[in-house]
Amino acid sequence: MAILSLQTPLIYLKGVGEARAEQLRKELNLDNCLDLIQFFPYRYIDRTDFKTVKQALELASKLDEVKDVQLKGRLKNIHVVGLKRAKRLVATLDDGTGSIELVWFNSISWLQKTLKPETQYLVFGKPYFFNGNLNITHPEIEDAATSEFQLSGKIQPMYPGTEKLKARGINSKAIARYTRYLIDNLDEKELFEILPQPITDKYKLINRFEAYKQIHYPDSEAHLQHAIRRLKFEELFIDQIKLLRVKQYRHSTSIGFILKNIEHHFTNFFNNHLPFQLTEAQKRVLKEIRKDVLSGRQMNRLLQGDVGSGKTVVALLTMLMAIDNNFQSCLMAPTEILAQQHYAGIKELLAPLNIRVELLTGSVKGKQRKIIFADLEKGEIPILIGTHALIEDTVKFNNLGCVVIDEQHRFGVEQRAKLWAKNNIAPHILVMTATPIPRTLAMTYYGDLDVSVIDELPPGRKPIKTVHRKESERLQVFGFLKEQIKEGRQVFVIYPLIEESEKLDLNNLMEGIQAFERAFPRPQYQLSIMHGKMKPADKDFEMQRFVANNTQIMVSTTVIEVGVNVPNASVMIIENAERFGLSQLHQLRGRVGRGAHQSFCILMTGDKLNNDARTRIQTMIQTNDGFKISEVDMQLRGPGEIEGTRQSGAPNFKIANIATDEHIMREARLSAEDLLNEDGQFEKPENMALRKYLSEQNGK
Ligand code: ADP
Ligand code: MG
Repeated sequence: MAILSLQTPLIYLKGVGEARAEQLRKELNLDNCLDLIQFFPYRYIDRTDFKTVKQALELASKLDEVKDVQLKGRLKNIHVVGLKRAKRLVATLDDGTGSIELVWFNSISWLQKTLKPETQYLVFGKPYFFNGNLNITHPEIEDAATSEFQLSGKIQPMYPGTEKLKARGINSKAIARYTRYLIDNLDEKELFEILPQPITDKYKLINRFEAYKQIHYPDSEAHLQHAIRRLKFEELFIDQIKLLRVKQYRHSTSIGFILKNIEHHFTNFFNNHLPFQLTEAQKRVLKEIRKDVLSGRQMNRLLQGDVGSGKTVVALLTMLMAIDNNFQSCLMAPTEILAQQHYAGIKELLAPLNIRVELLTGSVKGKQRKIIFADLEKGEIPILIGTHALIEDTVKFNNLGCVVIDEQHRFGVEQRAKLWAKNNIAPHILVMTATPIPRTLAMTYYGDLDVSVIDELPPGRKPIKTVHRKESERLQVFGFLKEQIKEGRQVFVIYPLIEESEKLDLNNLMEGIQAFERAFPRPQYQLSIMHGKMKPADKDFEMQRFVANNTQIMVSTTVIEVGVNVPNASVMIIENAERFGLSQLHQLRGRVGRGAHQSFCILMTGDKLNNDARTRIQTMIQTNDGFKISEVDMQLRGPGEIEGTRQSGAPNFKIANIATDEHIMREARLSAEDLLNEDGQFEKPENMALRKYLSEQNGK
């Protein structure tokens, strides 16, 4: 018996020649046996489940659409009908309970040659009624006596493929032949058990080799479920072990500045100039940060907090800790507007302290840019605020001690690393996000960071009231706006604008603007308009007018999405709300509710909504909790589509799905933590196999 190893190239599998190996590599990224064994079926067909023609008839007359059925019967009356395009091969399958017509439009001459009348066949496909007759078009068909179905066990795996592969005869069935051959000829030791026995015992996980075998060729539905659970657990567990070890390693080796002194600016600001009392959550997070910056290790902390939870002041206090120890700090925002707003806000807060704050964005040019560069290098700018311009190589700090990254979803892991490279000793890093992500996603996506959460809004905030209104109710909506404006409030109106449908969206926006201009005529009302096609200076001008309350209504596309702070704005209208994702809706809603007034979010939609859109709207109406919303978002879209995680190293699991496997994820996380706490060096006998596996993985 040929013994295969996981590293064996696929060309050594029976039936895979050079050309096919090349196709598998090109089309499915499958190089070797390891790739193939981890190429999991996407569904299964239970080949033990036969229907009779009579049952198929009943099903087809009851249901609009019947699932694939498997029939077994005698083939009769094979003949060609029709001409040219309509030419087709027709045959009758009779199993004693009734007969059904099989129809093929392709491969007619080949089928004519191979199909034998009066022979038992297995047939697989979707039955449906056509002209009063029960039909299956393009069924799979095999001679019952020599059927390969038997080869592949009772439950047959179905593998995903591409059109190109199918055209070359590499269909699901062919791949099933390869996986069958692989499993029959793979050295079992190649898939040695890597999970420690206490864990497999505790969670009742089946053996590793068995799991791989059963996921391709399950003996039963129950076997399949065990296999899936085991492999998901393994995948998540290994991922957690790796992440936690990175964190452990960082904790044990990284050197960080010790920010011991807080007697000067920090204390002064804290005692005399804080415009409000910190919430308990803010205080708790500050303590966590304080502990980090005293530990002698580099801080790598993620601060999650819903919009309006008051992350900025926490960031500012952290920067003051650095400044009191003669270090520079910088704050990086994802957009120019946000950077400007942070700059203005922080300058105002720091006004009594006499600390120089500078702004560096793409539009700071010429002489001023030069001055900033020079002074920064001399260490004369304690706080620099800006966009990603801050991470360009030309920007040199004198002694950067603390980096705050706001709305980090726009900054990838790589960009974070780039910032670290600006010093010999890495500065403390505080990453802030107002896009809460589900805890399971946070565990993998931010597994190597320490996480703080501000889970409390400043006091006195009234929860935003969210309602759903249809186009037919627009007049009432306008009436409501007029009342709000009369009371002195301001209104945001947001239109979708995406690249794929840019022209349509722009038209839509323009029509919307006209409708608003008609309903809210000058000079009684003033409108601001803002969209991505405008020059930054014009956008800024409009934004400033709105911030200054010179205009009451801001009609815009999502350019104002993140972070913008206009406490007097009390209404957020989201037009075509059905077209926005949940996290975006939540972000947009967060633009209001920042002042003392009751705020409202009005989701405008067309009359018809699909299920997903309805769920999104309902979720928005039901909760203001960003974490809950992110959970629903992940259920709807899958973890890979959650805002911002796509480009920047979202976990890419082969079998686990963190949207649906939260339970397994928790078990895996806990087991990984326990194991590392008890045996961080993998010295216990039961952890040897895991150690071997991890070191082999590292070697690659
Ligand atoms: P975000 O977390 O969304 O960045 P901000 O830091 O912009 O939130 O804070 C939102 C608003 O709440 C700001 O106007 C800020 O001054 C105010 N704020 C922050 N913390 C408190 C607090 N403890 N008490 C009252 N107001 C606060
Ligand atoms: Mg903010």
